[in-house]
Amino acid sequence: MPSVAIIGGGAAGLTAAISAARLGADVTLLEVAPRVGKKILVTGNGRCNLTNTAIAPGAYNHPDFVEPTLGSCDDVRDFFGGLGLLTYADDEGRVYPVTNAANSVLDVLRLECARLGVVERCDFEVMGISAADGGFQVASRYGEAVMAGAVVVTTGGGDSLLPALGHGRVAQVPVLAPLKTDLAPIRGLSGVRVRCAASLLDDAGNPVATERGELLFRDYGVSGIMIFDLSRALERGRTLSIDFFPDIAPDAFATFMAERCSALSSRTAETFFDGMLQSRVAVAVLRAAGIDSKTPAAELPAEELASLLKGFRLAVTGRGDAAQAQVTRGGTSVAEFDPRTLESRLAPGVFAAGEVLDIDGRCGGFNLHWAWASGIVAGEGAARLAATGGGS
Ligand SMILES: Cc1cc2nc3c(=O)[nH]c(=O)nc-3n(C[C@H](O)[C@H](O)[C@H](O)COP(=O)(O)OP(=O)(O)OC[C@H]3O[C@@H](n4cnc5c(N)ncnc54)[C@H](O)[C@@H]3O)c2cc1C
Repeated sequence: MPSVAIIGGGAAGLTAAISAARLGADVTLLEVAPRVGKKILVTGNGRCNLTNTAIAPGAYNHPDFVEPTLGSCDDVRDFFGGLGLLTYADDEGRVYPVTNAANSVLDVLRLECARLGVVERCDFEVMGISAADGGFQVASRYGEAVMAGAVVVTTGGGDSLLPALGHGRVAQVPVLAPLKTDLAPIRGLSGVRVRCAASLLDDAGNPVATERGELLFRDYGVSGIMIFDLSRALERGRTLSIDFFPDIAPDAFATFMAERCSALSSRTAETFFDGMLQSRVAVAVLRAAGIDSKTPAAELPAEELASLLKGFRLAVTGRGDAAQAQVTRGGTSVAEFDPRTLESRLAPGVFAAGEVLDIDGRCGGFNLHWAWASGIVAGEGAARLAATGGGS
């Protein structure tokens, strides 16, 4: 029987194993950890946000490369539906299992692997792939070897197997991470959540990326899904501008603020924002404007406050810890892979899928979607190639 070795038992490796085995290949799944799919369990805060209704190539760093294999949200939901997993989409298009438990996702993948006879070999750290007998030898750290007609590399971030075959690497940086910022303007705000819009501005003050949603102030800076998404554009902009009232145009907001100053003229600055802003945010805004809390509301600089609330600026000093990042940008360059099959052009018979390739997407199910979809395509390609006698 034609054989396929899958290196890495994560999201991409598990779908690659299933798709290859469904085409009749004899599949061995090699995983360095004692169990497969461990990372799946921590995704989506333990709920596993497995895809998104807005899946589109433009949500990824290399749209042209992902376009032929990405498929749609329904493709992934159908794939999992076929494994017995029921899913739902929340108001923002994020798709979760109805159990709201990531282990449901892993369980159905493992059950299907078992049904198809996929051989799982855990504690197997692959150290090298070499050509042998018209196929490949995949060697472990401890000298064990698995022979295969085709190989799929799905080792996630930080891979060295593909570079050893001649593939280029793109420097890795954590993306989809919280942002560290200047702390003085947000003193006292840690733990406060606001619904807002935020943009990253370039040196000329032009927005390079804008997101809406919930922002969470932290003791090191800012976090939240919208900030994770903005972090993908950090190389192009270093100033965060927060719009606390994104539904109102700047001119209309300035007029509103002027009217509020006269309507609430009996208040002082300290209470002026009551009913409009969370009190800790109000304190930060007054501090940024250099306004004393005893200032009568009628004397407040309405226009200045309006622009501060529509563009509260924070210098970004970097991304949060790599450990807090969900995805790594960089990895194996996609240039030497066929985007339709994900087969290496440098080492025919070797395929790659998932995060091992230099592909990253928005927050909200886009990265797991890429892992599942690319795993399925690479597994099918590997099975077909192995059936013709193998690569190398
Ligand atoms: C905290 C957190 C939450 C996340 N939440 C979401 C979410 O809700 N939705 C979403 O879309 N994305 C989410 N992501 C991103 C998502 O988890 C990744 O995009 C996805 O897991 C990538 O899958 P992969 O199979 O390519 O790589 P991985 O899941 O990293 O799997 C790679 C596997 O290969 C194994 N391996 C590595 N090297 C070797 C070797 N030499 N030999 C054998 N085995 C090896 C590893 O042990 C691992 O099991 C989250 C990430 C994190 C960290």
